[in-house]
Amino acid sequence: MEGKGKGRPLTVAIDGPAGAGKSTVARSVAQKLGYLYLDTGAMYRAITLKALQQNVPLDDEGALTRLACETVLEWQAPQAGIPGGPKLYMDGVDVSEAIRHPRVTKAVSLVARVPGVRQRLIQLQRRFAEQGGVVVDGRDIGTVVLPHAECKFYLTASLEERARRRQRELAQQGMPAEMEEVKSALAWRDTIDSGREISPLRPAEDAVIIDTTGRSVEEVVEQIYSLCKEKEAL
Ligand code: C5P
Repeated sequence: MEGKGKGRPLTVAIDGPAGAGKSTVARSVAQKLGYLYLDTGAMYRAITLKALQQNVPLDDEGALTRLACETVLEWQAPQAGIPGGPKLYMDGVDVSEAIRHPRVTKAVSLVARVPGVRQRLIQLQRRFAEQGGVVVDGRDIGTVVLPHAECKFYLTASLEERARRRQRELAQQGMPAEMEEVKSALAWRDTIDSGREISPLRPAEDAVIIDTTGRSVEEVVEQIYSLCKEKEAL
């Protein structure tokens, strides 16, 4: 918590495609600044998990919207000394691991393109960020959710590199996958996320674009942290 208490608490938005390193970087930047961290992708994943559990058809916008509106999502900060990020509870159940299952990953972009689902989750995301002192990562944070955020970043990387990282992550979670399969799943998600009518994935005009290809997490964290500290001091 190096930055805690110094300067004015900011709102930091980090957007970008799947596998660009957003979550790892955002979590680390939040920790260094002494800010809260919000992973908005996890919220879309939770609603998707519930839809799959309840066999809600993924093209039934009304049912998906109702599901999003009646679901209680709560975050629990990580406990001191225990590795990992904040835990996400859905209707009182810890779903932090279940939302990472490939079935959820495959379906999430279909759920995330439903306007009613987005409206509900954006409302919760704005409430979370109200007080400032937050790092929020997603696809539309700098453009739609928090357009007045003081610091906006857009992380990207080549498809090959993103697929390599995702493949490594999956192997660590005990779910090895073929490179081509991982690559085409990422490309498919990119296409839906960038092509949807509402809140498509794209950099905000005032975002700093960072290509993370070939760069270490530490380097990228340091770059974002320094820029935030400069802004905090203004
Ligand atoms: O970041 P993550 O890969 O966990 O996000 C899962 C999915 O949630 C994305 O592919 C996208 O469809 C959706 N999402 C979104 N808007 C956000 C965050 C995530 O549409 N702000």
